[in-house]
Amino acid sequence: MTGIRTIGVIGAGQMGNGIAHVCALAGFDVILNDVSADRLDAGRKTIERNMDRQVHRQMITADARDAAMRRLRTATDLNEFSDVDFAIEAATEKEAVKRAIFDDLCKKVRKDTILATNTSSISITRLGAATDRPERFIGLHFMNPVPLMKLVEVIRGLATDQPTYDAAVHIVERVGKHVTNAEDFPAFIVNRVLMPMINEAVYTLYEGVGTVESIDTAMKLGANHPMGPLELADFIGLDTCLSIMQVLHDGLADTKYRPCPLLVKYVEAGWVGKKAGRGFYDYRGDKPVPTR
Ligand code: NAD
Repeated sequence: MTGIRTIGVIGAGQMGNGIAHVCALAGFDVILNDVSADRLDAGRKTIERNMDRQVHRQMITADARDAAMRRLRTATDLNEFSDVDFAIEAATEKEAVKRAIFDDLCKKVRKDTILATNTSSISITRLGAATDRPERFIGLHFMNPVPLMKLVEVIRGLATDQPTYDAAVHIVERVGKHVTNAEDFPAFIVNRVLMPMINEAVYTLYEGVGTVESIDTAMKLGANHPMGPLELADFIGLDTCLSIMQVLHDGLADTKYRPCPLLVKYVEAGWVGKKAGRGFYDYRGDKPVPTR
């Protein structure tokens, strides 16, 4: 699997940035794509800032940072992807968005390019079946924040072939992460377990059992979680949390996955968490302030 030299990353949000970061540090040439030039600029700055932090903490050398930043290019157009060996899609968690991206991508990359999606919940088999290469299509679910989190869930679609799986594992290991295999069912393993817990925390808030602060404190000190569930939801993005709950609800047809109406309301308000400056906490001041 030494044939993979260039990795294309689609989506320069929090996940795409992180994936581009670890791939460039691992020695791959990386092209980061987004529809928004502003997001690309912000993404490049975030990557540089995060690598500076790693230099400061002596996790990487300044030379490694500089070399990685030289290996990273940005592009608002998928035409730049003609030489990409492996493409990882990390755009907004909406099936229609992802389908449109893969539609376009298949026309722009080589026939042997492997396609991966970082989706948190959408069926790999269904996304792959809509492309011209379901056997070279796979799920690679990185965790947030990518440079720090050790795990990547690898999800084979029904048609995914062995060389594609081997190539995906090769990349995960090159970027220094641990592989866990998950079957292709809604939300895989991590979010199948995590997201109903977060949704239940929002119900606990909705029903007035606790405030934002008391719920987060309860889970941090009472269950030894490093972050409270509402703080974690803000960090993930409430839009992403809602999409995952909708996929669980639709895909498993069980009312226990019903998204909390309060989660829907926050997303409708555009209060989608840290990335928007406001979610269950307001991040616009010096320190986060609970919104309820
Ligand atoms: P985000 O909102 O931070 O970023 C999404 C990016 O996709 C934005 O920059 C947007 O401009 C871009 N985009 C939208 N349409 C596009 C298109 N057609 N072409 C190119 N770029 C496009 O979202 P995120 O948190 O980075 O999530 C991205 C993916 O990663 C989702 O599938 C999500 O489920 C998954 N994921 C998220 C987390 C998390 O904790 N946030 C963890 C694991 C996986």
